[in-house]
Amino acid sequence: MKNLKLASISHTEGERTIIKIGEHTIGKDFIIVGGPCSVENETQLMETARAVKSAGAQMLRGGAFKPRTSPYDFQGLGLEGLRLLDKAKQKYDLPIVTEVVDPRDVSWVCEFADILQIGARNMQNFSLLREVGLSGKPVILKRGMYSTLAEWVNCAEYILKEGNPNVILCERGIRTFETYTRNTLDLSIVPAAKEVTHLPVFVDPSHGTGKYSLIEPMCYAAVAAGADGLLIEVHNCPEKALSDAKQQYTPEVFSHLVKKINKAVKCMRGLTDV
Ligand code: PEP
Ligand code: MN
Repeated sequence: MKNLKLASISHTEGERTIIKIGEHTIGKDFIIVGGPCSVENETQLMETARAVKSAGAQMLRGGAFKPRTSPYDFQGLGLEGLRLLDKAKQKYDLPIVTEVVDPRDVSWVCEFADILQIGARNMQNFSLLREVGLSGKPVILKRGMYSTLAEWVNCAEYILKEGNPNVILCERGIRTFETYTRNTLDLSIVPAAKEVTHLPVFVDPSHGTGKYSLIEPMCYAAVAAGADGLLIEVHNCPEKALSDAKQQYTPEVFSHLVKKINKAVKCMRGLTDV
């Protein structure tokens, strides 16, 4: 791919990037990140974190800065949200994935996050990419909703170029003419991204479909496509969620799902070893 240097698969001569987060090895172990769309209050986050831990997922997600379509919608708790994530991390021993939206916030958000998330809307926010690159903190780089593979991996290149090799790509659905689903989850991009880069690739079927009933089958499909991990929204009480209420799983459904995903991973890895 033109101009792709550090992110290119040829740069590592086919060797794939591995990222260690505590006891977890991204790019080797299959990683399930669960948690609410937004951190809303202490009870909500703690109950959800407990559910994420007891389900056997590896990491906790939750947005403290929410890039919303309307400026009148809930924008996140900011610092208070990060403090709550830290409390959940200490109590449940779960690494934290959280979004950063402003380059000026990167250094202090790093004090709370184990992995920074760059959201779809900020994929090409180049000053933000440079800043997270300088931070050295692992980054989940979501695919922009109108972005090609080339545009996406070039954004990863921006982060790598600043000396941060810890980038995880995440497919979260793109805009197409289809309106039944919130986005069109492009699972063919998973093996495609792995053909051109050495970076791990996650899939977010919650935003990718936007529909409760479609998330589970897309989890298995992502595993089959070769994803290294999944981002799944879970909420202690989805009907009361302040954002993305229609795509957040209950703790019960999530717990069942994690077991089935792990079986799917085992099954798929057995198949590819043949
Ligand atoms: C999120 O993960 O909550 C989020 C806002 O995702 P995206 O940037 O993919 O819309
Ligand atoms: Mn969300």
